[in-house]
Amino acid sequence: MSTRVLVVSDNEVLIDKLTHSVLNAHGDSLDITCVPRLAEAITRLKAHDDIQALLLDWDLPGARGFEALLALTNAAPQLPLVVLGNDRDLAQQMNLVRHGAEDYLLYSRIDAETLLNKVHKSIARKAREGVLFNNKERAQVTLDSIGDAVLSTDRAWRVTFLNPMAEKFLAWSYTEAAGRHLSEVFPVIDAATRELLVPQLEMEIGNGRTVLLPPNCVLVRRDGKELSIEDSAAPIRDQNGNISGAVIVFRDVSETRAMTERMAHLAEHDILTSLPNRALLDDRLDQGIALAKRHGRRLAILFVDLDHFKHINDSLGHLIGDQLLKAVAQRITPCIRTSDTVSRQGGDEFIVLLSEVVKAEDAGLIAEKIRLAVIAPYSIANHHLHLSASIGVSVYPEDGADSESLIRSADTAMYHAKEKGRNNSQFFRTEMNVHAVERQTITGDLRHALARDEFILEYQPKINLLTGAIAGVEALIRWRHPSRGVLYPIQFIPIAEDCGLIIPIGRWALREACTQAQSWLVKGLEFGTMAVNISAVEFRSDQFFDGVCSILESTGLPPEYLELELTETAVMRNFESTGLVLQALSAMHVRIAVDDFGTGYSNLSYLKRFPINSLKLDKSFVHDIANSPNVATIVRSVIRMGQNLNLRVVAEGIETEQQLKFLRAQECAEGQGHYFSKSVPGTECESLLRARALHWTWQFRPLALQRSK
Ligand code: C2E
Ligand code: MG
Ligand code: MG
Repeated sequence: MSTRVLVVSDNEVLIDKLTHSVLNAHGDSLDITCVPRLAEAITRLKAHDDIQALLLDWDLPGARGFEALLALTNAAPQLPLVVLGNDRDLAQQMNLVRHGAEDYLLYSRIDAETLLNKVHKSIARKAREGVLFNNKERAQVTLDSIGDAVLSTDRAWRVTFLNPMAEKFLAWSYTEAAGRHLSEVFPVIDAATRELLVPQLEMEIGNGRTVLLPPNCVLVRRDGKELSIEDSAAPIRDQNGNISGAVIVFRDVSETRAMTERMAHLAEHDILTSLPNRALLDDRLDQGIALAKRHGRRLAILFVDLDHFKHINDSLGHLIGDQLLKAVAQRITPCIRTSDTVSRQGGDEFIVLLSEVVKAEDAGLIAEKIRLAVIAPYSIANHHLHLSASIGVSVYPEDGADSESLIRSADTAMYHAKEKGRNNSQFFRTEMNVHAVERQTITGDLRHALARDEFILEYQPKINLLTGAIAGVEALIRWRHPSRGVLYPIQFIPIAEDCGLIIPIGRWALREACTQAQSWLVKGLEFGTMAVNISAVEFRSDQFFDGVCSILESTGLPPEYLELELTETAVMRNFESTGLVLQALSAMHVRIAVDDFGTGYSNLSYLKRFPINSLKLDKSFVHDIANSPNVATIVRSVIRMGQNLNLRVVAEGIETEQQLKFLRAQECAEGQGHYFSKSVPGTECESLLRARALHWTWQFRPLALQRSK
């Protein structure tokens, strides 16, 4: 195909030369059109877009040189232009080439070969320029608009380029930064060691390698502000492959890095206390076990469970509960070394990992330290709170070879601490496992016991020690377990308290006892009062008071026949609400007894404060009356104190005549125990009531006669 060329010239000789000599030689390779004036040329360029090159006569009338060049390149900037002229104007022609013409050709040199050559070369060169221009333009736009900062240097690490993002991050404008050394404009350091990383960067790039800076690197900006950055740097090579500089691309990752750190922390820590969570504990425990194994050392796990924490949460609300948990966390932490780990398992459970213990007893000492730290009083939002902890201890390798079994052993030991009355610590022993399994099955069975009607009440009479008459009966629960036989309260009440089943079970017992009492009343049997044991957990539940009222109402038992037996610990917790409930019960004439008196709380001020009717002296005192003068003194003073405070004292667990004699001599009001009767089923108790205590009256006669007026 021939190349279309537009010639702008009115020079007849020239035109002739072009059209004839050239066309004769290469007729089909050039397609020449001639126009004499600039205006015509422009019109034509606009009309025909198939023209591929322009030949401009320097000597054009009315529009010489520059003017013509400008007009044509404006009209068709993409077309190559070759200037034609005579030798005289050579200098100007060369000047035109510097300002946009592709080439020049002297009239005298025009021949077919040269012309063709110049036209084709000009077309090719123009095309190359176009591509280059486009590429450069695109690169510039890209660099200006990308979110990454780009910096480049020459071989001597002097800054040669900054894109707008780099100017912003570095707080250097390009004009200020140009020519300065890289380390001045781009001082990146290792966040941990604060060591300048630029020399390392220069060395790597100098060796022709692409470099990624370490993930914790920080850019210290000109204004002193530190930015976490992510960066990659690569050498720039010239066409011979030699390194001619470097290009560094970086971005601000402060936010991302902070977010990542936060996420990592959250994934491994408890939100409330900021202590490590179970996942992190497991990790550290696995590492600890591996180390202990390698070095033949021990480690220990302490399973710390707060006692009755749920009650505080339920009665004072979660906000206070949460603050209390934080306070506990702060108390436990200083009890251990920094190499150890305290973690929170959620709820009121904490697990402590002691990563190195020489002998098992050391773990016991730390457990004791923690127990004492937890027990000191707390003051939270104007509440004075008391808390205790039950702690189970397991030791590697004796109590488990892996993290799971070690924690399980500590958990089992913790349950034992609970059973031993809470507020103590216990080491794991193998036989505990058997016990733990048993406990689990009992919990499972307990869930069905009520529905399957497996509970019964037995009744034990309380005797007036002056007259020998039955002064009351105490209802005692038993569980006729389908496979284990009869279970006594000690075997299942603590479990029922822990799993919350005590509430429905206690309610059942209260209803059953009231029903029995009411039926005796209807039969005209004098039983005194019906005493029912109430667990601290029941007493503290919100529905307790309403429950008592509704049971009295539905069974029809007049409230003055009901006596509730509460332990000292149940009464002592939460003074305010206890007072209100006891006042309300007493206003209805329900009687209140303090059970197991002498075994719990030492501050007796509550006896004056609360409407209490009787004290039940714990059977452990009665048991020791004869063999310990100290105990005898205590019993004597309790009876005396009861008389002074106008409280009936009931001695529990009277088994011998000797004990009875002592108690009568001290004028103890009532007694209860195997000496008179064990607890018996309702029907049997009914017979006792019908016999009107004839069984015992002979024993009381002398004293009774002596006393009777
Ligand atoms: P408690 O209220 O102190 O009851 C007295 C316990 O002493 C009863 O044990 C009774 O059988 C026993 N006992 C009576 N006389 C003698 C004696 O002469 N010698 C000896 N060694 N023991 C005697 P039990 O029935 O095993 O009850 C144990 C505890 O379980 C009770 O102590 C009470 O705190 C609790 N309990 C019993 N029934 C219920 C119930 O329905 N609800 C709740 N929440 N607790 C109950
Ligand atoms: Mg009792
Ligand atoms: Mg008792």
